Amino acid sequence: MLSDAHCHLEGNEELALIQQSQQILTIINCDSPEEWEENQHLIRTEDQILSFGIHPWKASDYSFEEVIPYLRQARIIGEIGLDNVWTTVPMSRQRQLFDQQLAFAAANKKPVVLHTKGCEKEILSSIRAYPNKYLIHWYSSIDYQQEYIDEGCYFTIGIDLEDHPAVQKLVKAVPSNRLLLETDGVGAMEWALKRTVSVENYADLLRTHLQHIAKWRNSSEELIEKTTYQNLMAFIGQKK
Ligand SMILES: [Zn+2]
Repeated sequence: MLSDAHCHLEGNEELALIQQSQQILTIINCDSPEEWEENQHLIRTEDQILSFGIHPWKASDYSFEEVIPYLRQARIIGEIGLDNVWTTVPMSRQRQLFDQQLAFAAANKKPVVLHTKGCEKEILSSIRAYPNKYLIHWYSSIDYQQEYIDEGCYFTIGIDLEDHPAVQKLVKAVPSNRLLLETDGVGAMEWALKRTVSVENYADLLRTHLQHIAKWRNSSEELIEKTTYQNLMAFIGQKK
């Protein structure tokens, strides 16, 4: 059974339908109240779980107070985090909203999906301040990998695995019980693979990614498929 621990639907109903028909266990990210409402209409099975959090790129667009109702409804908080590479949103604003969402998640015992781009050191000290269950999404730094592993985090492996030495280091280092699969959605797959991706190829590309992970870990496709599925169930806090 396939799983996708971090995916953006970006309004794509066909993608939602593929996940449903193939029973792909998926955390579907909602980065705004608007996307939360939209995704409520697209999900149809228990295998599709919504996460909600204001992304660091949108930290200037919403106040913490106005998103509290959505944080309350979501089982998973994220993706939230900090980014000093791909956005011009002031770090002071990112930091404020990130801390508020982190504190909310820890107080309400909701697992968190983290975006750490360029701010790996800062986020490491943040999660030490707010003990919780964390999923580090598409970690792409060569640094602090062992420190995050030692904190008990789960990790998704970025779909640019074949081209990225830091991701290759990570895929070999993550303990078996904390390894997860992700696509980050079709837009991110196109970015990572540097080509156009058709939605109908989503499941095939997810499987190819799984095969690459198995190769880097000297493991079998079957074992990685089973392990990543079970790990995602454990992260979500679900038993089957
Ligand atoms: Zn994402």
